[in-house]
Amino acid sequence: MKAMVLHGPGQPLKLVEMPTPTIGPADVLVRVRACGIGLTVVNLIATPGRITAYPRIPGHEIAGDVIECGSAVRTVKVGQRVTNHFYLTCGQCKQCRAGRETLCLSPRGNIGAATDGGYAEYVALPERNAIAIPEGVSYVDAAVASDAIATPYHACHKEARLGPGDSVLIIGAGGGVGVHMVQMAKLCGARVVAADIGEDKLKLAKSMGADEVIDGRNAKLPDAVKALTDGAGVDAVIDIVASRATLEAGLQSLAIGGRLVIIGAQPKSVYGVNPGFTINPIEFLHRGLELHSSRYVNAAEIAQTLELVRLKRIKPVVTQIFSLDDVEAAHELIRRNATAGRLALEIN
Ligand SMILES: [Zn+2]
Repeated sequence: MKAMVLHGPGQPLKLVEMPTPTIGPADVLVRVRACGIGLTVVNLIATPGRITAYPRIPGHEIAGDVIECGSAVRTVKVGQRVTNHFYLTCGQCKQCRAGRETLCLSPRGNIGAATDGGYAEYVALPERNAIAIPEGVSYVDAAVASDAIATPYHACHKEARLGPGDSVLIIGAGGGVGVHMVQMAKLCGARVVAADIGEDKLKLAKSMGADEVIDGRNAKLPDAVKALTDGAGVDAVIDIVASRATLEAGLQSLAIGGRLVIIGAQPKSVYGVNPGFTINPIEFLHRGLELHSSRYVNAAEIAQTLELVRLKRIKPVVTQIFSLDDVEAAHELIRRNATAGRLALEIN
């Protein structure tokens, strides 16, 4: 099979002929039809230690057709269309059983990092990671839903707890996760203030339903947010960028009782600066603030997200489609922060 393969940390991917994966009794073999391309995969490739062995095939927002099932597989059938959960989990520990798979106490890493992923014609997935795609949802939309739309579902619903009448500031609102976060926050009933850098991204955020936009180049975020909220601040801040500057600006933008949700990651090994930020505990206490981590989703939340896509309550925003051998060009756009919305590859 053809695959885009990584031969070492930070190296460009190369199109290589690889053996089609063999599956174990609890795995399914999927013919890949689409795979999302986002910042996570670019960071994974650049972060030492995250990829466990080389050569490795990255890609973790996969959609395709099941063409073979292991002997112990019971819940997935040949011919079924599936997408995937990104984390390799035990399914047995306290956190897995509580539906918090991303906190698994016996984690085995991630698809596309600890095992080969979806930048290939075929991928082997554990049965537990395969999630059925509803009829009427395309492969590309399902691939993007499994991460770039599901992640906002969890962040808005479970962490920011957005409801009708709430206000939210989304930092990084024009990116691949951000454009879906704007839509999800609107679906929850919130007033959305979208912040990003550059006209294209803000225009896209606005077209997704943002009530107000702030260009981070022209305004100090807390001042701009206070000006829009009669000095009160917002009920929640969802920070998809999560640098020291944005996190501290986010804290200062919160209303009394506000929730700061960290969803982005800027590892020092990739960005060269420590993202650690300062909280004044007295102010934090007196203002009744909350700090939340929003780490991806559980499998049930992916199914919920796919249902929202099927019902057209959320529109997947894929701004560019690439062929398998052109994935490196997509990565380069992401590295230069030159993309609005999500990118994806398609294999016909
Ligand atoms: Zn577990």
